[in-house]
Amino acid sequence: MTGINRDAKWRARAVKASDDAPAASAEAETAPVTFSRSPADALTAIRDHIGDCTRCKLHTLGRRQVVFGVGNPDADLMFVGEAPGADEDVQGVPFVGRAGQLLTKMIQAMGFARDDVYIANVIKCRPPGNRNPEPDEIATCEPFLFQQIEAIQPKVIVALGAFAARTLLKTTDPISRLRGRIYSYRGVPLIPTFHPSFLLRSPEYKRDAWEDLKKALGVLGRTPGNSGEPGGTERNPAEPSSS
Ligand code: URA
Repeated sequence: MTGINRDAKWRARAVKASDDAPAASAEAETAPVTFSRSPADALTAIRDHIGDCTRCKLHTLGRRQVVFGVGNPDADLMFVGEAPGADEDVQGVPFVGRAGQLLTKMIQAMGFARDDVYIANVIKCRPPGNRNPEPDEIATCEPFLFQQIEAIQPKVIVALGAFAARTLLKTTDPISRLRGRIYSYRGVPLIPTFHPSFLLRSPEYKRDAWEDLKKALGVLGRTPGNSGEPGGTERNPAEPSSS
């Protein structure tokens, strides 16, 4: 893809967990962005380039709108989900339904506000009936996620669920095997964890997810205790009351 990059070091970053990862499809889809743009301007250029997208079949299958991403273009912490659901499709904003409410609690438990972080999905349009994204849909849409990451240059990425982790790491491993470790996406530490929708169904895994989120805080040099308000105490979204 042509350069969103404002930083030669970023361009030189090794692609570790996914040496051959984003290249093929990312190169096929080139956003009209130039060097030395701010992250906000680069994101705007990517969004403009996507337009009212008709690149894959999802535009014929009932999606209302493209759900691009939301949050701070200068975020250190970026979350990547799977695909918009019904609420997101209506509002045009990722993670605003029930899973989104849990994600917001997880973000707050880490000591951040939703506005501090950036949230995007692997695919930008709602699959019908909330089915899983299909391989051709991911292949068509993933370059835009890669471009968003390149524009933002976060310090850490949390991949929510199997689709996000597999897309960024180019693996087919299950999320249960991937989580619990820190990987690299083009030199950016990447931490896979369970998807909030899964955690709503299986709250017993919230404790593991919280361990993953603490790893992300560690990468940022923060702890739950020092990342919230002064004197803040650790609030663990693993507690049943927070679901
Ligand atoms: N699930 C996702 O993966 N993304 C959303 O935006 C909402 C639910």
